[in-house]
Amino acid sequence: MKGLLYYGREQLRYSEDIPEPQIKNPNDVKVKIAYCGICGTDLHEFLDGPIFFPQPGSVSEISGKALPLCPGHEFSGIIDSVGSGVKNFKPGDRVVVEATSHCSDRERYKDEIVNKDLSFCAACKSNKPNCCKRLSFVGLGTDHGAFGQYVVYGEDHILKIPDNLPLDLAALVEPLAVAWHAVNCSNFKPGQTAVVLGGGPIGLCTILALKGHRAGKIVCSEPAAIRRDFALKLGAEVFNPMDYDDPILALKNLLPETEGFATSFDCSGIQKTFDTSLDVLGPGGIAVNVAIWPNVPIQYVPMCLTYQEKLATGSMCYVTEDFRQVIDAIDSGLIDHESMKLLITGKVEAKDAVEGGFMQLINHKENNVKIMIAPNGLDM
Ligand SMILES: [Zn+2]
Ligand SMILES: [Zn+2]
Repeated sequence: MKGLLYYGREQLRYSEDIPEPQIKNPNDVKVKIAYCGICGTDLHEFLDGPIFFPQPGSVSEISGKALPLCPGHEFSGIIDSVGSGVKNFKPGDRVVVEATSHCSDRERYKDEIVNKDLSFCAACKSNKPNCCKRLSFVGLGTDHGAFGQYVVYGEDHILKIPDNLPLDLAALVEPLAVAWHAVNCSNFKPGQTAVVLGGGPIGLCTILALKGHRAGKIVCSEPAAIRRDFALKLGAEVFNPMDYDDPILALKNLLPETEGFATSFDCSGIQKTFDTSLDVLGPGGIAVNVAIWPNVPIQYVPMCLTYQEKLATGSMCYVTEDFRQVIDAIDSGLIDHESMKLLITGKVEAKDAVEGGFMQLINHKENNVKIMIAPNGLDM
């Protein structure tokens, strides 16, 4: 098949003779890919990797597979064929794929993995597969992802999409599920207030996930004008922290009654946004870290939580239920198609995707949110 293969840092190449993945387990589903978004994680793998992908000379703990592999984990498509045990899906179904892989997925690859012990880690045993110590993804090292024409994966990861949801918008369900999970981590109640720190792709998806949770006031704090403009179009109020000597006080002053926000979402991951995420909360507020930080310590004053019994937590990717809830929120119109369309700033075929996708996002970050790759052509 045709697609992009990742060989390691700065080595991403278009190929027309990638072995096409085949159904081998009874519960396998083979999906013909329509669209797959390029994620910040894909850019990190390209610039600084391998991170999730297996290191050169080693193999995936989940699947036993080694590089090169196709990246791509934010995707939609149409079912091509199904294994003998699949009851809930049939060829022609329009679907998205929840891309995580964890202890339970090792069963699919039991012939290929090195360590044959199939017991679950503590997170998987306690029904938190998103926190699995082996966590990986289709398209980030477990198996070929959706920058190739086909993906084969277990039916427990497949979800049908509404008939009226275009396949390009459906490829946004995955990044929206990341944001949806973060909002769920804040125990969000309808009508509550939220501040989103950072208006990049994750921040913008968080605004839509908050709308899906029927939020009250949503404020997006973002220094870049182009990104504030995106946030405004999605229905958030916008705030430029550079306009104020004391941006935290200015944000809190937006909500004098409650002396701050009920929830905050750090989608930037710098000391300033971390401080803001805690200080901008009213009493009992909840701060959720959604950003991926470098592995270095930062300053933190514990009493700023204690005095007002605030909570600080983090959100780790998503579970299948988040996908279901995002699809429902889209179907009910709480997350509207017009807003989703704004997030797609480009579409390219796989053969043009290194220059027209990856390099475009690396060199023109501000102007772009999601660029979609269409491995089976732009008119599928
Ligand atoms: Zn991603
Ligand atoms: Zn596990």
